[in-house]
Amino acid sequence: MTGIRLDNMAKVYGSGGSAVRAVDDVNLSIETGEFFFLLGPSGCGKTTLLRMIAGLIDPTGGRLLFGERDVTHLSVEDRQTAMVFQNYALWPHMSVWANVEFGPKMRGKNADQRRALAGENLARVEMQDFGRRKPNQLSGGQQQRVALARALAAQPQCLLLDEPLSNLDARLRLHMRGQLRQMVKSTGTTAVYVTHDQKEALSMADRIAVMNGGKIVQVGAPEQVYNRPANRFVADFVGEANFIEGKVALEGGKARDFAGGARRIDTPVGTLFTADERCGPAGSKITCCIRPERVGLSATGPTPQADPAAAAVPATVVSSTYLGEIRQYLCRLGTGDTWRISSLADRNKAFDAGTPVMLRIAASDVAVIPD
Ligand code: ADP
Ligand code: MG
Repeated sequence: MTGIRLDNMAKVYGSGGSAVRAVDDVNLSIETGEFFFLLGPSGCGKTTLLRMIAGLIDPTGGRLLFGERDVTHLSVEDRQTAMVFQNYALWPHMSVWANVEFGPKMRGKNADQRRALAGENLARVEMQDFGRRKPNQLSGGQQQRVALARALAAQPQCLLLDEPLSNLDARLRLHMRGQLRQMVKSTGTTAVYVTHDQKEALSMADRIAVMNGGKIVQVGAPEQVYNRPANRFVADFVGEANFIEGKVALEGGKARDFAGGARRIDTPVGTLFTADERCGPAGSKITCCIRPERVGLSATGPTPQADPAAAAVPATVVSSTYLGEIRQYLCRLGTGDTWRISSLADRNKAFDAGTPVMLRIAASDVAVIPD
């Protein structure tokens, strides 16, 4: 297993006027043993990038390193990567056991070594009792676990997964997230996982690279990407977000620091506070980004023990939707903007449409996106 480095990796499909820049000068460093995610909408270049790492697609430009080794021009076999696909791609005529033994066999392992690798990896994915079955005698989730065992049995330098859970039904997909992460981490293998599902990435990744239009727009740990999005695209793509434009406030000629280092932002709905270190100097134009679940909703009027660095913004409830564990509100602000707000559903404290309310927003929950 090895770390992976991409230097200005690019892929252009076609030429002339019809050329598509599917991967546009991507630079990345993936640590040894890291579970790394490429997250982005359909068509943003994830599969192309993953297949270039595997050696299945020739890059138009750039360099790829496994550890210190330049593998840009090596064949698929010489790179020793293993792929797991959305559609499992098990060999239908072979038993589960034969599928998993196949990689070690191709690498010249003897019968004892093959048996050991197949046994160990089928056990890892809890499929040791299904060795004699054919793939069509397994459920989708079981087939995907076998596909993972087959990939791991090949002892790859790195494991590459392209939307491996997308063919499973919603309940199983949820269940497999935690299992898959635990199985992959237990091997210590460097793994790159492609998905368009932000929940999958947030719940499984060590780090996430968010892609848009062939470019990487942000790299960070799940909390970082969710709480401190680099731009509006990331904020929207990794969850829901409310936005309001504003200007870092000047007071007596200089920006004043508030309790806990929070800064003041003048916005059309009043003063907000932010603890985001990316805030910039007084006078900077910025966009505030606030997640629906970080807005507190209360009846109008003063609240006891109000946080001095929490903003209070008056609004009117437009709609209220009960979703079981949470209640989702649409609220209209003084500017006419509507914000989404979600709170744990409390039987006794729902606000009806038309009710005037106060939105309370703590400084730590206001992310600042530079304009
Ligand atoms: P993703 O996996 O994020 O959905 P892809 O890497 O499959 O994205 O595709 C990225 C872009 O490259 C898309 O615009 C797609 O239409 C284009 N593309 C992918 N494969 C080919 C190909 N073989 N020939 C031409 N264009 C392609
Ligand atoms: Mg794809």
